[in-house]
Amino acid sequence: SFVTECPPTLTEIGRSTWSVLHSISAYYPKNPNKEQQKQALNFLFSLSALYPCSNCRKHLSNYLKKHPPRVESNKAFSIYLCQMHNSINKYLKKPQFDCSQAMKRWKGPWKNCK
Ligand code: FAD
Repeated sequence: SFVTECPPTLTEIGRSTWSVLHSISAYYPKNPNKEQQKQALNFLFSLSALYPCSNCRKHLSNYLKKHPPRVESNKAFSIYLCQMHNSINKYLKKPQFDCSQAMKRWKGPWKNCK
């Protein structure tokens, strides 16, 4: 129950945030209108201002400055976020993810998942 739950660690917040980010891009329209593209950009820039870890915020805002977000389609957005995640994986010495699998990983069909 809620009373025994602990505040999330930075690792848990990171994992949850990636789930939301990659799922948003996987379920994003194939042909988004201008308003949807603006909302996707606003979401990323707001996250870079509000993310609850200062070092992570710095990473994110630097990445957004260096690499303008690609939000013209679900595929472009998914690959963009995959590459962003890979740049943080690299910094944290975690394995690189194959970005050709990014949409499948977050929307399926994926391995033996139901
Ligand atoms: P996560 O990296 O959380 O990944 C979750 C799952 O996503 C993986 O199991 C894998 O199936 C899938 N995945 C992995 N790579 C990709 C990819 N490239 N594309 C699509 N799917 C992928 N932590 C720090 O310690 N320092 C930081 O500076 C830092 N900055 C961060 C900045 C942001 C914007 C975010 C969202 C997180 C940041 N984190 C940071 C947290 C860190 O990225 C991880 O979330 C955390 O360490 C937990 O890692 P994990 O091994 O559980 O997998």
